Amino acid sequence: MKKVEKLWLSFDTLDDKVFMLTVMVSIVVGVIALVAGALQHLPFVSMIATFVIVVFMALLLVLGIRFPQKRALLRLLLLMGINFVLFPVTFIFSGGIHSGMILFFLIGLFLVAVMLRGKAGEIVFIISLLIMILSIEFAQHFPELVSQMSLQKHYQDVKVTLILSGIGLYAITVLIFNAYNQERHNNRVLMEKLQNLSIRDTLSGLYNRGELYRRLEIMYGGNEQEHRKNTLVRERHYIAMLDIDDFKLLNDTYGHDFGDRVLAEVSHVLDEMARPGEGEIAARYGGEEFVCVLVADNMEEAYARLEESRKRIGELTWERDPALRVHISGGVVSCMSDDDLTGTMRAADELLYKAKRSGKDRICRQVKMGSGSPDKR
Ligand code: GH3
Ligand code: MG
Ligand code: MG
Repeated sequence: MKKVEKLWLSFDTLDDKVFMLTVMVSIVVGVIALVAGALQHLPFVSMIATFVIVVFMALLLVLGIRFPQKRALLRLLLLMGINFVLFPVTFIFSGGIHSGMILFFLIGLFLVAVMLRGKAGEIVFIISLLIMILSIEFAQHFPELVSQMSLQKHYQDVKVTLILSGIGLYAITVLIFNAYNQERHNNRVLMEKLQNLSIRDTLSGLYNRGELYRRLEIMYGGNEQEHRKNTLVRERHYIAMLDIDDFKLLNDTYGHDFGDRVLAEVSHVLDEMARPGEGEIAARYGGEEFVCVLVADNMEEAYARLEESRKRIGELTWERDPALRVHISGGVVSCMSDDDLTGTMRAADELLYKAKRSGKDRICRQVKMGSGSPDKR
């Protein structure tokens, strides 16, 4: 059972799956027909014909499994075999228009659409259709060469072919739509993953610099009307630029891997501070620098929240060295401090360096537009 499942999975495209299904069903039906034929003492020629079909199908199956790269050719052979030879000959030998073979003709044409692509598909389709029409013409003009059926047998045959072709069509269509839906689902999952990868930094899980700018540029951009609306939005937004203190020393002392862990933990604290539902952002700006966009009623509120995160980071303990404390410095400005983004970022950066120069482990906030004062705890 496991082997069959593995084999089924190895036919990963829909074309190959339908190929495998068609060939296997043909073999099963062929073998049943052989047994039934033997029991009913059918003519030797028809037994030989059925046997040849079973061998042909078995050969296709074996070759399909052994040579996956040749499956396109095998699908072409299968459809040419079915539509050019098997169905037309069976049509003539099983009662012509009075049999149910017309339904099988339809299945044959449908299989071309499912299994063959491009020019080859179009050519095989047209030739199949022509051969099928010619078979009907032949039956019309040479009725004496077509084996005839009794009315009773005719009704039986139509019922059996309707059941077989109905089930075949149903199964293949279900297979196609299931595969299509599965593919759509996989694509959606993949798209979400890709989108997430493109906007997030892998180490910290925070938004990356590109996504930060994409969002900030919306806040600072737009036409005249949008700009007015954005100005109202910006009134409640604050940008903080943060940087881990003496990170190079930490890397040099404890190694790069430990440095990465510190980056991840610090990022985690900042991520917990940001409220995405409110439009807040925590982003890794690069290296050991971060930018947070906060929403607050006033600078004091934004500053207090940054201070809380600064203290939380300072209180983190590290198994590697229980005495170690990691600190951050930062500068925070109102998004109204400059009418353009570059100016606002520069103002935040200047305050960050002010914090560094005045002893690190502190956040400097803008007191008045364009000026900043260091605040220590
Ligand atoms: P300051 O307090 O003035 O900020 O000093 P600093 O040592 O933190 O700053 P500096 O700019 O001298 O060093 C930053 C270091 O951060 C240098 C670089 O090797 C390290 N770094 C940058 N990105 C990564 C990273 O992804 N992982 C690790 N482990 N280290 C990084
Ligand atoms: Mg640093
Ligand atoms: Mg730095």
